[in-house]
Amino acid sequence: MKEQQKESKKQLMESLSTEINNCKKCDLWKIRSKPLVGDGSINAEILVIGESPGYYEDLQGRAFVGEAGKILDKLLNLIKLERKDIYITNVLKCHPPRNHNPNRHEIDSCIPYLYRQIDIIKPRIILSLGKFASKEIFDKFNLEFSRISELHGKIYEAETSFGTVKIIPLYHPAVACYHNEMLDVLKEDFMKLKSIINN
Ligand code: URA
Ligand code: SF4
Repeated sequence: MKEQQKESKKQLMESLSTEINNCKKCDLWKIRSKPLVGDGSINAEILVIGESPGYYEDLQGRAFVGEAGKILDKLLNLIKLERKDIYITNVLKCHPPRNHNPNRHEIDSCIPYLYRQIDIIKPRIILSLGKFASKEIFDKFNLEFSRISELHGKIYEAETSFGTVKIIPLYHPAVACYHNEMLDVLKEDFMKLKSIINN
């Protein structure tokens, strides 16, 4: 990527970040500590999309720094990826109290930020973590969403203004915090990601 392109991405992401930091489009702004815009490299080919910042993410404004983050790091490590090789963000940029499921108003208010991040980053691969992120991404790219238990680990393709994007829906890593056997399912799915990274 040319230096000029990198610089323009950086500027676009900075102005988006300023907007998100001042955003009051849904009620979550009232109780957030810090919005979580995203983390990692905006020049990465892989975009990872989670659900919403948790308790620790809210305090730090950083992505996946809690228990689910430990699982995510294990999975990345398995296929020799580091945080700097990906960009991570969420459907919602502010922490919902008690991690409540994102509601329709919150999603509709916040999702334009995610769409703009996709346009800025222009990823080659999108990993959507869990049913909420996967459903939103499937809807955006006109793919038919059914259930995460059916779709997880399969590779989908979508045409975008910047080329073909591969989309892999996955279980949310947090499920492995409570159900240890899910770690094996996540590991298997990450191995499929590995098979397309270098293609
Ligand atoms: N869970 C998420 O979905 N996103 C985070 O950033 C952290 C935990
Ligand atoms: Fe704005 Fe999104 Fe935060 Fe709601 S969750 S206040 S829409 S940044």
